[in-house]
Amino acid sequence: MTRIFNDPSDFAEEALAGFCDVHADLVRQVTGGAVRRRRPAKPKVAVLAGGGSGHYPAFAGLIGTGLADGAVVGNIFTSPSAQQAYAVAKAAESGAGVVFTYGNYAGDVLNFGMASERLASEGIQVENVLVTDDVASAPPSESEKRRGIAGDFTVFKIMGAAAEAGADLADVVRLGRKANSLTRTIGSAFHGCTFPGAETPLFTLKDRQMGLGLGIHGEPGLFDTELPPAKELGQEFVARLLAETPHGAGDRIAVILNGLGSTKHEELFVLWLTIAPLLRAAGYTLVMPEVGELVTSLDMSGVSLTITWLDDELEPLWTAPAETPAYRRGNAALQAGAAPAEEESDGAAAPDAFDATEESRGYAANCLAALAAARDSLHGAEARLGDMDAVAGDGDHGRGMVRGIDAATTAAQDAAARGAGAGAVLAAAGDAWADKAGGTSGVLWGAGLRSFGEALGNELSPGPSELAAAVSAFAARITGLGKAEIGDKTMVDSLLPFAETLSRLLADGARHSDHPAAAWAEAAAVSTAAAEATASLRPLKGRARPLAEKSVGTADPGATSLAMIFTVMGPHLAAPAAAPATAPAAAEAAGPAAHGTATRQPAGTPS
Ligand code: ADP
Ligand code: MG
Repeated sequence: MTRIFNDPSDFAEEALAGFCDVHADLVRQVTGGAVRRRRPAKPKVAVLAGGGSGHYPAFAGLIGTGLADGAVVGNIFTSPSAQQAYAVAKAAESGAGVVFTYGNYAGDVLNFGMASERLASEGIQVENVLVTDDVASAPPSESEKRRGIAGDFTVFKIMGAAAEAGADLADVVRLGRKANSLTRTIGSAFHGCTFPGAETPLFTLKDRQMGLGLGIHGEPGLFDTELPPAKELGQEFVARLLAETPHGAGDRIAVILNGLGSTKHEELFVLWLTIAPLLRAAGYTLVMPEVGELVTSLDMSGVSLTITWLDDELEPLWTAPAETPAYRRGNAALQAGAAPAEEESDGAAAPDAFDATEESRGYAANCLAALAAARDSLHGAEARLGDMDAVAGDGDHGRGMVRGIDAATTAAQDAAARGAGAGAVLAAAGDAWADKAGGTSGVLWGAGLRSFGEALGNELSPGPSELAAAVSAFAARITGLGKAEIGDKTMVDSLLPFAETLSRLLADGARHSDHPAAAWAEAAAVSTAAAEATASLRPLKGRARPLAEKSVGTADPGATSLAMIFTVMGPHLAAPAAAPATAPAAAEAAGPAAHGTATRQPAGTPS
């Protein structure tokens, strides 16, 4: 069901306008569609994708570096007009010619063809590349009649990369046609999509039935069969595509497992688990496969598998970087994808060398002890924090905090063993926390800890004012990212009272500067009371917000865990720096920076 619309007939136009507003940094709405925000510095072939609306991220979501220069955007499942195609071409064209590329549908062929004639009559070089990947829509002997479905994506990607690399129009077209000739897709539908304003879906299937050979305009499958288990569906897809292996094709393939709009990514991953091993067993290397939604059909439930057989010319274009509103592929991903599937890239990178003073390494030991104390208390409180979160949130706060602190502790120990100072130890802890914890609290705690570490640096053991500054940096990062204010019923409600109390007390030299631990304990008590007081509030931020009333009477889990952590960390963070813990063996492993430390040892020290 498509439920969000005003006048149904304005749906496509409003969706495009909203999209262009959100992504105004990358795209610009023009008559007929959208183009890249920035024009190329020197003339390049303009690759213009197009077709009806309802297929997001196809086609406007694919405008950007390394992919399309523009998209011609028709009404839902409706070819854009020739005027639209012409107008978008005029806006995108930069002197090196234009290529329209789209799935093979009669309306599109007509309209893009007419626009091409008009452009040519004005002296603009123009070509058309049709995508015909759907194996179910015509027999191999009539492959030029096949319609275009998710294979659009690989063809567009390859053409976009070629144009970005400076290929001329004839070459971009040649590569696009070659990619299309090496691309095959098969899909199946489970439930039809519903037009905005329509009462019923475009098609329905009987219970436990599926349609094999779907189209992307809400076309049901070409024939209905009983819904098989995921394994059999995967086998069926692979068998049908491999039966159409292009003559002379190589053993490296681009693969897309595409959701049609309301198929869960998790379902796709389950299916992938059958498909990938079958393809590998057939002798193929899967090059940067994609599992997700790339060409959809409104809210249709269904899935399709696409294979593009690569060669030396196509593969670098498939793996080239791209940056669009809906699709990004960067250099890092590129390297990961080029590695054999079994190879873990984790740990392959050379460990950082750390530059730190002995003093800071000493305080790093305090940080490790503080993290260990937080870990113990979070493990003890995991169930309670989860129950608190379940009242109006999703019940994962205990688990998330435990995952975060466990990863943080391990990363911190590892950094310290390699000679890191306190700042680098906490930064490593924060990065690992954010990476592993998930949830709102994970990203906030991770970023906060990193800021805490950056404020400390790797030279000094913090005195009262440095300690207060580091806590303030932690708080500023969390409020800066999360934008929560006091009273929103979040961790900020116990964080800000803590930070303010600590700063105030530590600034009061007479009473506290010699006893930062006492000041910290007092601030922690204020924080604990503030966390308890959140019970009476209604949440205005975070997942608990929609169920605000239910949350009244229960304290905020994030505020509670924060007060708890700061309480147990105090005796370590507010204590004098421990003796440096760096063992010679660890210093060895830490590389050049640590060797500097080793030479500071008295001459003749036995090793
Ligand atoms: P999620 O809400 O993603 O499931 P958690 O359950 O781990 O993440 O964390 C929930 C806690 O996150 C809340 O109790 C609240 O304290 C905190 N929180 C939520 N939104 C914000 C925000 N914008 N700023 C600061 N803290 C927030
Ligand atoms: Mg939660």
